[in-house]
Amino acid sequence: MAQQLDPATREALLTRVRFYRDLGLTDFYLRPADSALQAQFAAESEEKPVSDIQPMSAPSFRQPLGERVGDHKALPVSAPQAYPLEDQPIPPRKPFPAAPDIAAAVPAVDRAAALQLIRDEIGECTRCPLHKGRNKLVFGDGLPTARLMFVGEGPGADEDAQGLPFVGKAGQLLNNMIAAMGLRREEVYIANVVKCRPPGNRVPEQEEGATCTPFLFRQIDVIRPQVLVALGATAATWLLGSRQPLAGLRGRVHAFRGAQLIVTYHPAYLLRDPRQKKEAWADLQIAMRELGLKLPAKA
Ligand code: URA
Repeated sequence: MAQQLDPATREALLTRVRFYRDLGLTDFYLRPADSALQAQFAAESEEKPVSDIQPMSAPSFRQPLGERVGDHKALPVSAPQAYPLEDQPIPPRKPFPAAPDIAAAVPAVDRAAALQLIRDEIGECTRCPLHKGRNKLVFGDGLPTARLMFVGEGPGADEDAQGLPFVGKAGQLLNNMIAAMGLRREEVYIANVVKCRPPGNRVPEQEEGATCTPFLFRQIDVIRPQVLVALGATAATWLLGSRQPLAGLRGRVHAFRGAQLIVTYHPAYLLRDPRQKKEAWADLQIAMRELGLKLPAKA
């Protein structure tokens, strides 16, 4: 019989697991609290004894810094990854639609209008359940001809209230990251995997991401940024079409819909663990190199 956790402990453990997942850590081992429980589990269920349980792992895909990988087509769907303690295991991704041939370039002068057409098509969206808790839909914001685009996960409370991406605490840090690159926020474009706030800022579910990302991809096709920065594991997963530990995706350039895609930590995660800012800065310097921006002189 499974042991029931009280709601507070369960919530605390869920938060911790999400935190690890943000880090790209997906290897978890099941370990009962004590050997008596272990024996009880073995006796009461047909589950394997703990010593036989394999780690729920995703392989590490680390490659050398700066290596380019090919454009992502429909990747084979790997065996579903189970994340312990989640209410529902995350379903395996549906085969991801292959990127179409890069859309015909929208002339720079028409890009704002082309983005507005996408916004109009989205309208007062009710395509997925996220609309139910929404105040304002967060379409995206910035320069329609930006050479650099950031993609986050989904609006939080501040974004939901204002209808703009990254305007809360994480947004302030993102602004600082952009400034550190020698750019102004008005010079880049910022959007999210989903355009409506997930309740309690949870990770968007499969149906929500699958419903919303086609609009994101069309925004990318209009803007045609030279460099795309995926902020965190959710953005990286939905852009690249496969779930991989963040650690294996960072530090190199991926090809995506004609852009150079760089993966880094989500600013909200950096607020929780500022020690990783150095790593994020290394990722941003790869973006700067690709954009031909001047790198700061080494101290
Ligand atoms: N976090 C995100 O992923 N996106 C936002 O717009 C704000 C916070």
